[in-house]
Amino acid sequence: MSADTPNHFIRNLVNRDVAAGKHGGQVVTRFPPEPNGYLHYGHAKSICLNFGLAEAYGGVCHMRFDDTNPEKEEQEYVDAILEAVHWLGFEWGEHLYFASDYFDRMHDCAISLIQAGKAYVDSQSAEEMRANRGTLTEAGKDSPYRNRSVAENLDLFARMRAGEFAEGTHILRARIDMASPNINLRDPAIYRIRKVAHQNTGDAWPIYPMYDYAHCISDAVEGITHSLCTLEFEDHRPLYDWYLDQLDLCANPDLSASLAEIDMKLPVSRPEQTEFARLNLNYTVMSKRKLVELVQKELVEGWDDPRMPTLSAMRRRGVTPASIRLLCDRVGVTKQVTVIDYGVLEGCVREDLDATAERRMAVLDPLPVTIENLPADYRAEIEVGNHPQRPELGTRTLSHGRELLIERSDFEEVPPKGFKRLIPDGEVRLRHIGIVRCVGVEKDADGRISRLRVTLYQDDQPRKVKGTIHWVCATGGRRAEVRLYDRLFNVADPDAGEGSYVDHLNPDSRQILSSAWVEPAAADADPETRFQFERIGYFVTDRRDHTTDQPVFNRVVSLRDSWTKG
Ligand code: ATP
Ligand code: MG
Repeated sequence: MSADTPNHFIRNLVNRDVAAGKHGGQVVTRFPPEPNGYLHYGHAKSICLNFGLAEAYGGVCHMRFDDTNPEKEEQEYVDAILEAVHWLGFEWGEHLYFASDYFDRMHDCAISLIQAGKAYVDSQSAEEMRANRGTLTEAGKDSPYRNRSVAENLDLFARMRAGEFAEGTHILRARIDMASPNINLRDPAIYRIRKVAHQNTGDAWPIYPMYDYAHCISDAVEGITHSLCTLEFEDHRPLYDWYLDQLDLCANPDLSASLAEIDMKLPVSRPEQTEFARLNLNYTVMSKRKLVELVQKELVEGWDDPRMPTLSAMRRRGVTPASIRLLCDRVGVTKQVTVIDYGVLEGCVREDLDATAERRMAVLDPLPVTIENLPADYRAEIEVGNHPQRPELGTRTLSHGRELLIERSDFEEVPPKGFKRLIPDGEVRLRHIGIVRCVGVEKDADGRISRLRVTLYQDDQPRKVKGTIHWVCATGGRRAEVRLYDRLFNVADPDAGEGSYVDHLNPDSRQILSSAWVEPAAADADPETRFQFERIGYFVTDRRDHTTDQPVFNRVVSLRDSWTKG
């Protein structure tokens, strides 16, 4: 986020807080993913917001894993998340934390809640608890265990922690108000028994804290000033505040000792939660559960399949971090839930790549062309610019002889109205070479056009032609694999209507062309180099599969939005 990033309500709020000297004038934010999947576009919005604010105000943004749910969490996800945040262009420096680092602290806090009569061990079955929770219109009912003595609660909780009880037999709950109109305040769970190993703490804990409880404590312990989250947590904010009120974490003298242990400064004031709307994109799904399912059922080729909405997939697809940051700036930060059109993302990608990607020529579906009036051993070397508006990007040498390849679709025997490319006896400009006239069409035994014969005008006579087409030299050019990617779903909202989102997978979302041709200056590039293939679109050398011997290009985005027409 730069100084000219548009203001939004959270920036305004932070401006006011900083001006008023709240939180000691500091800005400390955090990005708190759960390591249960790869990051997607939605997360990018949260990353840009949190890291961006810290940058803009000279504060810090903590990278924190909210790893309180061991069943679904894995080290692979931790690694992928760190890689993605870094790739997007943000640094957390020394501020890498795990909620699980605070498990002792959270456990101590739970004991102090019990001692204060603010938490109790409930031994109802899950069904009883559900039945007694009430509904949106009906108050809940107190648990028969709600008035256990502090001593009994302390004893039971100690035994939960010691691993004496089976999963589901007991749960530690906050003692708030079973009649609260806000269901989140109806004695929410604090700790549940889960006999599952944790990717960070191993078998140390048979009990795990619930998200709401763990999150506010983590924020307070780290001295977060602005705790930004998505709108679905709005109704949880009273609980966030309730825990902090009870625990009085920020003023707790015990805290300074435990903070020193984990090498953190004492919070200057307590964190405040503010909610903003999620980023939603059409033609995709972003629920992690569904993304995990797409991967596990092999409906895509893994988390970084270029059709996935994950950041690692975007990277592989060739999308630049700058264009994702641009998207997040454009979308803005509001409380209004909106669905962003996929075309807006593609527009951001084109805008960035138009300015930064060098131009090359490639032919996806080659048709041989012989320039008859050039000698068989003819060789021309042409110095051409890499970018039409940016001479500083330098030049390269294009060479060609008598045999070329052009795009099959650039020739029509029976042209449709308005066709400006090559036709029998017609003329067209070959980019960087000159104007040619088609003098012959050869066909194979099946009647398919196998070669065009043309002559090149070698005089200086001014001539007018309507079209310019690109080409690759048949002798100097290089064969390449080109992977064309399109939207993963063929409907705007794959979750709408009957059936499963899986029913709406776009069967044409990937097309592999194994006999495309590119100029050498494209084939010889390093992996992850982006180009504009003139007249076709933006492409990137595949991060994993591209070599100069066997070049592989992914289409990042076409030159024009083909989905909005018609
Ligand atoms: P789930 O809770 O289903 O695992 P999640 O998308 O909430 O998924 P988290 O790992 O908890 O995943 O998210 C990390 C951070 O990113 C949270 O602060 C969350 O609010 C934010 N975030 C997640 N999805 C979006 C989104 N679509 N738009 C903006 N922020 C998001
Ligand atoms: Mg979440």
